[in-house]
Amino acid sequence: MSSLHGFSFIAGSLSNGNTGSFQAISPIDLATLPGDFKTASEAEVHLAMEAAHQAFSTFRATDGETRACLLESIADEIEALGTDLIDRARLESGLPEPRLLGERGRTCGQLRMFAAQARTHAWQDARIETAIPDRAPIPKPDLRRHLTPRGPVVVFGASNFPLAFSVAGGDTASALATGNPVVVKAHEAHPGTSELVAAAIAKAIAALDLPAGIFSMLQGSGRAIGLPLVKHPRTRAVGFTGSLAAGRALFDAAASRPDPIPVFAEMGSLNPIVVLASALEEKAAEIANQIAASITQGVGQFCTKPGIILIADCPEAATFRTTLAAAIQTAAPGTMLHQGISKTYQQGSSAMAAHPSLTTLARSESPATGCQGAALVVEASARDVLTDESLRHEVFGPFAMLVTVSGNGEVAEILHTLGGQLTASVFADPTDTTLPVLLDTLAESAGRVIINGVPTGVEVCSSMQHGGPWPASTDSRFTAVGSAALLRFVRPVSYQNIPDALLPESLQNANPLNINRQVNGTLTNRAV
Ligand code: NAP
Repeated sequence: MSSLHGFSFIAGSLSNGNTGSFQAISPIDLATLPGDFKTASEAEVHLAMEAAHQAFSTFRATDGETRACLLESIADEIEALGTDLIDRARLESGLPEPRLLGERGRTCGQLRMFAAQARTHAWQDARIETAIPDRAPIPKPDLRRHLTPRGPVVVFGASNFPLAFSVAGGDTASALATGNPVVVKAHEAHPGTSELVAAAIAKAIAALDLPAGIFSMLQGSGRAIGLPLVKHPRTRAVGFTGSLAAGRALFDAAASRPDPIPVFAEMGSLNPIVVLASALEEKAAEIANQIAASITQGVGQFCTKPGIILIADCPEAATFRTTLAAAIQTAAPGTMLHQGISKTYQQGSSAMAAHPSLTTLARSESPATGCQGAALVVEASARDVLTDESLRHEVFGPFAMLVTVSGNGEVAEILHTLGGQLTASVFADPTDTTLPVLLDTLAESAGRVIINGVPTGVEVCSSMQHGGPWPASTDSRFTAVGSAALLRFVRPVSYQNIPDALLPESLQNANPLNINRQVNGTLTNRAV
């Protein structure tokens, strides 16, 4: 592998803030990895944001084809990094090679999906209502509305997807697709991976002769440069995936600016699973094994990991319980993403294991190294979950709580107490007559409702919703995954009585972009 320079990227140039440096520590063996990464300064935050602002007017005016070519080139350049990227990401994250190969495929797939979106311009959601000059009592003006980019977007790389939700992840791709410059705050756990991907993006931008300021990436600590990035006057929106504490800090900082800006933060979720008696009668053991695999997959480090299982009080529940316990006991401890996550998991799971109201159902064998996480499932009573707030927060890692419930009324009570969720699942016989009401209850609290399946495994497609009411995310109207994710970084503008030649192309009479538009209430690609 070529050596890593350790600098931040600011508008196509390498930058050293001269404020110190840090190294990446491999979670596999706690070895210090090659590379001395220069911590970005507040002055560099300013340089990156000003460059993004300067580049915005040119970038927003590029056509969809140009932005599509950029995203496709970034995907090509990431693939061209070959094993260098996979090897470094493996050392920095502890994730196994097959998972990283899959994640690289997902990252490049997302970039190409957003390229297709950019090319069609369909995301602009053009709506035209033509004038009615002789309308009584007052004339109706000509009004045309479409979506337009917000301006420079700050993206916080997530630790649990070092490729797909990091430097060139879904947030960056959706912001660039819609004409927004991006400044990434790299996650401190994988700075080498971030540098390699940032170089690929910078190369693609230079090859297409686009303004260099449309992309910068800063290395360093969230506490040192995270808040300055959010508070910078040029920042127009923020994309974030991570903890509730950090998401809340960034959200509050954005709200307290003289000019508040949106923060699209995707944070913690318990992803409740309800298991009804109608499902247990047929498949208690099968369902238990499916749920155990979902709890332990990727060492539980997915935002959709099931954290609480509400199970019907029925005779077959015993089979479910013993099968789940056996599957958890035999799960091998896995390497967690970084020392911070591993420490937080050890503290969180130990606190649950020691909680006087909880009993341990099953625990996997003890970790062999400091950064490994052992699976744990505890049991709680419905009353304890309803009355004890400390039992209702996410423990990020292979942990879940099993709660026996007396009926769907109690399920609804618990779900309302848990708050917003990314997902809510139910295992049931599809003909179960209690399902329609229960599905409504699940949809009230979650962004995605699943029947007879587990929540892990998030499909990237146009109909995916990955975001739910607080605290799952800061704005439940939007998704962080799938093609609709680009709607976070655009805003509507209406043009009233503007001469045709002065209108944006998406709204001109002749429809030069040949897109479907709502014209006087009818969806059509015809000229006006
Ligand atoms: P994190 O602590 O939330 O950090 C995410 C990003 O925010 C990092 O770049 C971090 O900077 C920055 N940051 C943290 N606190 C900040 C603050 N007060 N002000 C400004 N920036 C701040 O997430 P993590 O390191 O990935 O994992 C820690 C915990 O987050 C996990 O144990 C888990 O509970 C949760 N998590 C949840 C999800 C999810 O999808 N729901 C995903 C990952 C993690 P640094 O680089 O300096 O740390």
